[in-house]
Amino acid sequence: MKPANSLLSSYGTTVFEVMSRLAIEHQAINLGQGFPDDRGPDPVLDAASKALYDPPNQYPPMLGVPELRQAVAEHNKRFYGIDVDWQSETMVSTGATEGLAACFFGLIEPGDEVVLIEPLYDCYLPIIRRAGGIPKSVRVLPPSWELDTAALAAAFSERTKLVVLNNPQNPASKVFTRDELEAIAALCRRHDAYAVCDEVYEHMAFDGRPHIPLMTLEGMRERTVRIGSAGKTFSLTGWKVGYLTGPEHLLQPIAKAHQFLVFTTAPNLQRAVAFGLGQGDGYFTGLRDGMAAKRDRLSVGLAGLGLAPAVCQGTYFLFVDASPFLRSGEDDEGFCRRLVTEGGVAAVPVSAFYQDRQTAPKTFIRFCFAKQDSVLDGAVERLGSYLAA
Ligand code: PMP
Ligand code: GLN
Repeated sequence: MKPANSLLSSYGTTVFEVMSRLAIEHQAINLGQGFPDDRGPDPVLDAASKALYDPPNQYPPMLGVPELRQAVAEHNKRFYGIDVDWQSETMVSTGATEGLAACFFGLIEPGDEVVLIEPLYDCYLPIIRRAGGIPKSVRVLPPSWELDTAALAAAFSERTKLVVLNNPQNPASKVFTRDELEAIAALCRRHDAYAVCDEVYEHMAFDGRPHIPLMTLEGMRERTVRIGSAGKTFSLTGWKVGYLTGPEHLLQPIAKAHQFLVFTTAPNLQRAVAFGLGQGDGYFTGLRDGMAAKRDRLSVGLAGLGLAPAVCQGTYFLFVDASPFLRSGEDDEGFCRRLVTEGGVAAVPVSAFYQDRQTAPKTFIRFCFAKQDSVLDGAVERLGSYLAA
Protein backbone atom coordinates (compact mmCIF):
# COMPACT_ATOMS: atom_id res chain seq x y z
CA MET A 1 0.00 0.00 0.00
CA LYS A 2 1.22 3.48 -0.82
CA PRO A 3 2.08 5.69 2.16
CA ALA A 4 -0.18 8.54 3.30
CA ASN A 5 1.14 12.09 3.52
CA SER A 6 4.46 11.75 5.33
CA LEU A 7 4.42 15.10 7.08
CA LEU A 8 1.05 14.64 8.76
CA SER A 9 1.72 10.96 9.41
CA SER A 10 4.79 11.97 11.40
CA TYR A 11 2.57 13.65 14.00
CA GLY A 12 0.91 11.67 16.77
CA THR A 13 -2.56 12.38 18.16
CA THR A 14 -2.68 15.83 19.81
CA VAL A 15 -1.72 15.93 23.45
CA PHE A 16 -5.11 17.47 24.32
CA GLU A 17 -7.00 14.50 22.93
CA VAL A 18 -4.57 12.02 24.49
CA MET A 19 -4.89 13.56 27.94
CA SER A 20 -8.68 13.90 27.72
CA ARG A 21 -8.98 10.23 26.74
CA LEU A 22 -6.77 9.22 29.65
CA ALA A 23 -8.81 11.43 31.99
CA ILE A 24 -12.02 9.66 30.97
CA GLU A 25 -10.41 6.24 31.21
CA HIS A 26 -9.07 6.92 34.71
CA GLN A 27 -11.99 9.06 35.94
CA ALA A 28 -9.53 11.87 36.52
CA ILE A 29 -10.40 15.54 36.99
CA ASN A 30 -9.54 17.04 33.61
CA LEU A 31 -7.48 20.22 33.91
CA GLY A 32 -5.61 19.28 30.72
CA GLN A 33 -7.43 20.20 27.50
CA GLY A 34 -8.62 23.80 27.64
CA PHE A 35 -12.39 23.94 27.91
CA PRO A 36 -14.75 25.41 30.51
CA ASP A 37 -17.05 23.02 32.36
CA ASP A 38 -20.07 25.32 32.64
CA ARG A 39 -22.84 25.22 30.07
CA GLY A 40 -22.27 28.63 28.54
CA PRO A 41 -24.40 31.81 28.73
CA ASP A 42 -28.15 31.06 28.64
CA PRO A 43 -29.07 33.99 26.35
CA VAL A 44 -26.61 32.74 23.73
CA LEU A 45 -27.88 29.15 24.06
CA ASP A 46 -31.46 30.42 23.72
CA ALA A 47 -30.54 32.38 20.62
CA ALA A 48 -29.01 29.25 19.04
CA SER A 49 -31.99 27.13 19.91
CA LYS A 50 -34.46 29.68 18.49
CA ALA A 51 -32.39 30.07 15.35
CA LEU A 52 -32.51 26.32 14.80
CA TYR A 53 -36.29 26.49 14.35
CA ASP A 54 -36.14 29.67 12.33
CA PRO A 55 -34.99 28.50 8.91
CA PRO A 56 -33.04 28.49 6.70
CA ASN A 57 -30.88 25.70 7.97
CA GLN A 58 -29.28 25.27 4.56
CA TYR A 59 -25.80 26.37 3.55
CA PRO A 60 -25.33 29.93 4.74
CA PRO A 61 -23.22 32.36 2.68
CA MET A 62 -19.64 31.21 2.38
CA LEU A 63 -18.21 34.19 4.29
CA GLY A 64 -20.74 33.86 7.12
CA VAL A 65 -24.24 35.11 7.91
CA PRO A 66 -24.53 38.90 7.60
CA GLU A 67 -25.68 39.28 11.26
CA LEU A 68 -22.46 37.74 12.54
CA ARG A 69 -20.19 39.56 10.13
CA GLN A 70 -21.82 42.86 11.11
CA ALA A 71 -21.45 41.93 14.80
CA VAL A 72 -17.75 41.15 14.27
CA ALA A 73 -17.23 44.55 12.66
CA GLU A 74 -19.07 46.28 15.54
CA HIS A 75 -17.09 44.31 18.13
CA ASN A 76 -13.85 45.55 16.56
CA LYS A 77 -15.05 49.15 16.76
CA ARG A 78 -16.48 48.85 20.27
CA PHE A 79 -13.48 47.24 21.96
CA TYR A 80 -10.52 48.47 19.92
CA GLY A 81 -11.72 51.42 17.84
CA ILE A 82 -11.00 49.54 14.59
CA ASP A 83 -13.21 50.62 11.68
CA VAL A 84 -14.19 47.55 9.68
CA ASP A 85 -16.27 47.15 6.54
CA TRP A 86 -18.22 43.99 7.36
CA GLN A 87 -18.81 43.09 3.72
CA SER A 88 -15.20 43.05 2.60
CA GLU A 89 -13.21 42.72 5.82
CA THR A 90 -14.82 39.94 7.90
CA MET A 91 -15.15 36.19 7.49
CA VAL A 92 -16.65 33.49 9.71
CA SER A 93 -14.68 30.26 10.11
CA THR A 94 -15.37 26.87 11.62
CA GLY A 95 -13.47 27.65 14.79
CA ALA A 96 -10.29 29.68 15.01
CA THR A 97 -8.49 26.51 13.94
CA GLU A 98 -10.04 26.50 10.49
CA GLY A 99 -9.51 30.27 10.26
CA LEU A 100 -5.80 29.78 10.96
CA ALA A 101 -5.60 26.97 8.40
CA ALA A 102 -7.32 29.16 5.81
CA CYS A 103 -4.80 31.95 6.52
CA PHE A 104 -1.83 29.62 6.16
CA PHE A 105 -3.11 27.89 3.02
CA GLY A 106 -4.33 31.17 1.53
CA LEU A 107 -1.19 33.25 2.15
CA ILE A 108 1.85 30.95 2.19
CA GLU A 109 3.75 30.01 -0.94
CA PRO A 110 6.05 26.97 -0.69
CA GLY A 111 9.44 28.21 0.51
CA ASP A 112 8.06 31.24 2.38
CA GLU A 113 9.38 31.72 5.87
CA VAL A 114 7.00 32.04 8.80
CA VAL A 115 8.11 33.55 12.11
CA LEU A 116 6.62 31.98 15.25
CA ILE A 117 6.99 32.52 18.98
CA GLU A 118 7.45 29.44 21.15
CA PRO A 119 5.86 27.96 23.17
CA LEU A 120 3.14 27.81 20.53
CA TYR A 121 -0.30 26.33 20.03
CA ASP A 122 -0.07 22.90 18.49
CA CYS A 123 -2.02 23.38 15.23
CA TYR A 124 0.26 26.06 13.77
CA LEU A 125 3.30 24.07 12.72
CA PRO A 126 1.74 21.08 10.93
CA ILE A 127 -0.47 23.31 8.79
CA ILE A 128 2.24 25.86 8.04
CA ARG A 129 4.59 23.07 7.01
CA ARG A 130 1.86 21.34 4.94
CA ALA A 131 1.33 24.66 3.17
CA GLY A 132 5.05 24.65 2.30
CA GLY A 133 6.07 27.29 4.83
CA ILE A 134 9.43 27.17 6.59
CA PRO A 135 9.01 27.85 10.31
CA LYS A 136 11.48 30.18 12.04
CA SER A 137 10.80 30.08 15.76
CA VAL A 138 12.00 32.25 18.60
CA ARG A 139 11.37 31.41 22.23
CA VAL A 140 10.04 33.35 25.16
CA LEU A 141 11.27 31.92 28.44
CA PRO A 142 9.78 31.65 31.91
CA PRO A 143 9.47 33.20 34.37
CA SER A 144 9.48 36.65 32.68
CA TRP A 145 8.36 35.53 29.19
CA GLU A 146 9.84 38.74 27.82
CA LEU A 147 10.16 38.87 24.07
CA ASP A 148 13.81 38.97 23.01
CA THR A 149 13.40 41.51 20.23
CA ALA A 150 16.96 40.97 18.93
CA ALA A 151 16.26 37.24 18.53
CA LEU A 152 12.97 38.08 16.84
CA ALA A 153 14.71 40.45 14.43
CA ALA A 154 17.20 37.70 13.59
CA ALA A 155 14.33 35.35 12.69
CA PHE A 156 13.02 37.75 10.03
CA SER A 157 14.51 37.86 6.54
CA GLU A 158 13.48 39.04 3.08
CA ARG A 159 11.83 35.62 2.69
CA THR A 160 9.50 36.16 5.68
CA LYS A 161 5.91 36.01 4.47
CA LEU A 162 4.22 36.30 7.82
CA VAL A 163 4.53 36.22 11.59
CA VAL A 164 2.06 34.34 13.78
CA LEU A 165 1.23 36.06 17.05
CA ASN A 166 -0.90 34.41 19.73
CA ASN A 167 -1.89 37.14 22.19
CA PRO A 168 -2.84 36.45 24.98
CA GLN A 169 -0.58 33.47 24.57
CA ASN A 170 -1.38 29.84 25.30
CA PRO A 171 0.36 28.19 27.22
CA ALA A 172 2.65 30.96 28.56
CA SER A 173 -0.41 32.94 29.72
CA LYS A 174 1.42 36.03 28.55
CA VAL A 175 -0.15 39.30 27.41
CA PHE A 176 2.20 41.13 25.04
CA THR A 177 3.09 44.68 26.05
CA ARG A 178 2.74 47.64 23.74
CA ASP A 179 6.54 47.84 23.44
CA GLU A 180 6.76 44.21 22.36
CA LEU A 181 3.95 44.73 19.86
CA GLU A 182 5.70 47.84 18.50
CA ALA A 183 8.84 45.76 17.94
CA ILE A 184 6.87 43.09 16.06
CA ALA A 185 5.07 45.73 13.99
CA ALA A 186 8.35 47.44 13.09
CA LEU A 187 9.76 44.13 11.81
CA CYS A 188 6.62 43.45 9.76
CA ARG A 189 6.86 46.88 8.18
CA ARG A 190 10.61 46.58 7.54
CA HIS A 191 10.30 43.15 5.90
CA ASP A 192 6.93 43.72 4.23
CA ALA A 193 5.51 40.76 6.19
CA TYR A 194 1.93 39.95 7.18
CA ALA A 195 0.75 39.12 10.70
CA VAL A 196 -1.75 36.38 11.53
CA CYS A 197 -2.96 37.15 15.04
CA ASP A 198 -4.60 34.40 17.06
CA GLU A 199 -6.53 36.45 19.61
CA VAL A 200 -8.96 33.80 20.84
CA TYR A 201 -8.29 34.83 24.47
CA GLU A 202 -8.84 38.54 23.74
CA HIS A 203 -11.38 38.85 26.57
CA MET A 204 -9.12 37.12 29.08
CA ALA A 205 -6.36 39.64 29.81
CA PHE A 206 -6.20 40.10 33.57
CA ASP A 207 -5.26 42.63 36.27
CA GLY A 208 -6.04 45.73 34.23
CA ARG A 209 -3.73 44.77 31.36
CA PRO A 210 -5.26 45.93 28.09
CA HIS A 211 -5.52 43.52 25.18
CA ILE A 212 -3.95 45.43 22.29
CA PRO A 213 -4.57 43.96 18.84
CA LEU A 214 -1.39 44.20 16.73
CA MET A 215 -3.74 45.41 13.99
CA THR A 216 -4.18 48.73 15.83
CA LEU A 217 -0.48 49.64 15.55
CA GLU A 218 0.88 51.98 12.91
CA GLY A 219 1.00 50.47 9.45
CA MET A 220 -0.49 47.15 10.61
CA ARG A 221 -4.14 47.56 9.57
CA GLU A 222 -3.22 46.66 5.99
CA ARG A 223 -1.04 43.67 6.83
CA THR A 224 -2.83 41.96 9.74
CA VAL A 225 -5.57 39.37 10.07
CA ARG A 226 -6.92 38.88 13.56
CA ILE A 227 -8.89 35.85 14.66
CA GLY A 228 -11.39 35.45 17.49
CA SER A 229 -13.31 32.41 18.73
CA ALA A 230 -16.82 32.05 20.16
CA GLY A 231 -15.48 28.91 21.83
CA LYS A 232 -13.41 31.07 24.17
CA THR A 233 -15.49 34.24 24.34
CA PHE A 234 -18.72 32.38 25.16
CA SER A 235 -17.27 29.28 26.84
CA LEU A 236 -18.73 27.09 24.07
CA THR A 237 -15.66 25.35 22.69
CA GLY A 238 -17.67 22.63 20.95
CA TRP A 239 -19.43 25.13 18.72
CA LYS A 240 -16.35 25.84 16.61
CA VAL A 241 -17.31 29.30 15.44
CA GLY A 242 -14.40 31.63 14.69
CA TYR A 243 -14.24 35.05 13.05
CA LEU A 244 -11.56 36.79 11.04
CA THR A 245 -11.01 40.49 10.48
CA GLY A 246 -8.54 41.69 7.90
CA PRO A 247 -8.08 43.91 4.87
CA GLU A 248 -9.86 42.78 1.73
CA HIS A 249 -6.65 42.00 -0.15
CA LEU A 250 -5.74 39.41 2.51
CA LEU A 251 -9.24 38.06 3.21
CA GLN A 252 -9.83 37.31 -0.46
CA PRO A 253 -7.07 34.67 -0.78
CA ILE A 254 -7.93 33.37 2.71
CA ALA A 255 -11.55 32.91 1.62
CA LYS A 256 -10.31 30.91 -1.36
CA ALA A 257 -8.83 28.38 1.06
CA HIS A 258 -11.88 28.52 3.35
CA GLN A 259 -14.25 27.71 0.48
CA PHE A 260 -12.47 24.42 -0.16
CA LEU A 261 -11.76 23.51 3.47
CA VAL A 262 -15.26 23.77 4.98
CA PHE A 263 -17.09 26.34 2.84
CA THR A 264 -19.27 27.37 5.78
CA THR A 265 -20.31 27.01 9.46
CA ALA A 266 -23.60 26.02 11.19
CA PRO A 267 -26.01 28.94 10.62
CA ASN A 268 -27.89 28.82 13.94
CA LEU A 269 -24.63 28.93 15.87
CA GLN A 270 -23.46 31.86 13.78
CA ARG A 271 -26.63 33.79 14.55
CA ALA A 272 -26.34 33.04 18.26
CA VAL A 273 -22.73 34.23 18.29
CA ALA A 274 -23.87 37.44 16.56
CA PHE A 275 -26.27 37.94 19.46
CA GLY A 276 -23.53 37.10 21.97
CA LEU A 277 -21.05 39.63 20.61
CA GLY A 278 -23.67 42.33 21.10
CA GLN A 279 -24.14 41.65 24.82
CA GLY A 280 -23.51 44.43 27.33
CA ASP A 281 -20.09 45.20 28.81
CA GLY A 282 -21.02 43.27 31.95
CA TYR A 283 -20.86 40.00 30.06
CA PHE A 284 -17.29 40.58 28.89
CA THR A 285 -15.95 41.99 32.16
CA GLY A 286 -17.76 39.21 34.03
CA LEU A 287 -16.05 36.57 31.90
CA ARG A 288 -12.65 38.13 32.52
CA ASP A 289 -13.09 38.74 36.24
CA GLY A 290 -14.64 35.31 36.80
CA MET A 291 -11.67 33.66 35.10
CA ALA A 292 -9.20 35.79 37.07
CA ALA A 293 -10.84 34.64 40.32
CA LYS A 294 -10.49 31.01 39.22
CA ARG A 295 -6.86 31.65 38.35
CA ASP A 296 -6.28 32.95 41.86
CA ARG A 297 -8.10 30.02 43.45
CA LEU A 298 -6.12 27.36 41.61
CA SER A 299 -2.84 29.30 41.98
CA VAL A 300 -3.17 29.44 45.76
CA GLY A 301 -4.06 25.74 45.90
CA LEU A 302 -1.15 24.67 43.70
CA ALA A 303 1.34 26.95 45.45
CA GLY A 304 0.35 25.33 48.74
CA LEU A 305 1.47 21.99 47.28
CA GLY A 306 4.83 23.31 46.07
CA LEU A 307 3.63 23.67 42.48
CA ALA A 308 3.86 27.46 42.30
CA PRO A 309 2.58 28.73 38.93
CA ALA A 310 4.36 31.35 36.80
CA VAL A 311 2.61 34.73 36.57
CA CYS A 312 -0.61 34.30 34.57
CA GLN A 313 -1.50 37.51 32.70
CA GLY A 314 -4.20 36.05 30.47
CA THR A 315 -5.86 32.94 28.89
CA TYR A 316 -7.26 30.24 31.17
CA PHE A 317 -4.11 28.32 31.86
CA LEU A 318 -1.55 28.10 34.64
CA PHE A 319 2.02 27.25 33.76
CA VAL A 320 3.76 25.27 36.47
CA ASP A 321 7.32 24.08 37.07
CA ALA A 322 6.95 20.44 38.07
CA SER A 323 10.66 19.80 38.64
CA PRO A 324 10.39 19.32 42.42
CA PHE A 325 8.17 16.30 41.78
CA LEU A 326 9.83 14.67 38.76
CA ARG A 327 11.41 11.29 39.35
CA SER A 328 14.88 10.61 38.07
CA GLY A 329 14.79 10.55 34.25
CA GLU A 330 11.12 11.54 34.17
CA ASP A 331 10.00 14.34 31.83
CA ASP A 332 6.85 16.49 31.74
CA GLU A 333 5.02 13.93 29.63
CA GLY A 334 5.85 11.03 31.93
CA PHE A 335 4.80 13.12 34.93
CA CYS A 336 1.46 14.06 33.30
CA ARG A 337 0.79 10.39 32.50
CA ARG A 338 1.52 9.48 36.11
CA LEU A 339 -0.67 12.31 37.41
CA VAL A 340 -3.65 11.29 35.31
CA THR A 341 -3.37 7.53 35.83
CA GLU A 342 -2.29 7.47 39.48
CA GLY A 343 -3.12 10.91 40.87
CA GLY A 344 -6.55 11.37 39.28
CA VAL A 345 -5.81 14.80 37.72
CA ALA A 346 -5.06 15.53 34.06
CA ALA A 347 -2.64 18.31 33.03
CA VAL A 348 -0.81 18.91 29.75
CA PRO A 349 2.97 18.58 29.21
CA VAL A 350 4.31 21.87 27.88
CA SER A 351 7.02 20.29 25.68
CA ALA A 352 4.17 19.60 23.23
CA PHE A 353 4.16 23.33 22.45
CA TYR A 354 7.64 23.36 20.86
CA GLN A 355 8.85 22.70 17.32
CA ASP A 356 11.93 20.80 18.43
CA ARG A 357 10.94 18.42 21.21
CA GLN A 358 14.61 17.54 21.79
CA THR A 359 15.52 21.03 22.98
CA ALA A 360 12.13 21.90 24.49
CA PRO A 361 12.00 22.47 28.23
CA LYS A 362 10.73 19.26 29.82
CA THR A 363 9.83 20.18 33.37
CA PHE A 364 6.73 22.34 32.86
CA ILE A 365 3.06 21.37 32.86
CA ARG A 366 -0.12 23.34 32.16
CA PHE A 367 -3.38 23.34 34.13
CA CYS A 368 -6.69 24.77 32.84
CA PHE A 369 -8.57 26.71 35.50
CA ALA A 370 -11.81 27.35 33.53
CA LYS A 371 -13.68 24.99 35.87
CA GLN A 372 -16.23 25.09 38.71
CA ASP A 373 -14.64 26.09 42.01
CA SER A 374 -15.50 22.68 43.48
CA VAL A 375 -13.68 20.97 40.61
CA LEU A 376 -10.58 23.12 41.14
CA ASP A 377 -10.67 22.40 44.88
CA GLY A 378 -11.14 18.68 44.21
CA ALA A 379 -8.13 18.67 41.89
CA VAL A 380 -5.94 20.39 44.49
CA GLU A 381 -7.07 17.89 47.11
CA ARG A 382 -6.26 14.92 44.87
CA LEU A 383 -2.90 16.38 43.88
CA GLY A 384 -2.13 17.05 47.53
CA SER A 385 -2.79 13.46 48.58
CA TYR A 386 -0.96 12.00 45.60
CA LEU A 387 2.14 14.17 45.76
CA ALA A 388 2.45 13.77 49.52
CA ALA A 389 2.40 9.97 49.21
N1 PMP B 1 -5.71 29.16 19.24
C1 PMP B 1 -5.40 28.95 20.52
C2 PMP B 1 -4.26 29.67 21.11
C3 PMP B 1 -6.13 28.05 21.27
O1 PMP B 1 -5.81 27.83 22.54
C4 PMP B 1 -7.20 27.37 20.66
C5 PMP B 1 -7.91 26.32 21.45
N2 PMP B 1 -9.12 26.60 21.72
C6 PMP B 1 -7.51 27.63 19.31
C7 PMP B 1 -6.74 28.54 18.63
C8 PMP B 1 -8.62 26.96 18.61
O2 PMP B 1 -9.83 27.63 18.70
P1 PMP B 1 -11.17 27.00 18.10
O3 PMP B 1 -11.65 25.99 19.09
O4 PMP B 1 -12.10 28.15 17.94
O5 PMP B 1 -10.83 26.34 16.82
N1 GLN C 1 -7.05 25.07 22.78
C1 GLN C 1 -7.21 23.98 23.68
C2 GLN C 1 -6.00 23.92 24.63
O1 GLN C 1 -5.04 24.60 24.47
C3 GLN C 1 -7.33 22.64 23.01
C4 GLN C 1 -8.12 22.52 21.78
C5 GLN C 1 -7.96 21.16 21.19
O2 GLN C 1 -8.06 20.16 21.89
N2 GLN C 1 -7.64 21.08 19.95
O3 GLN C 1 -6.08 23.14 25.53
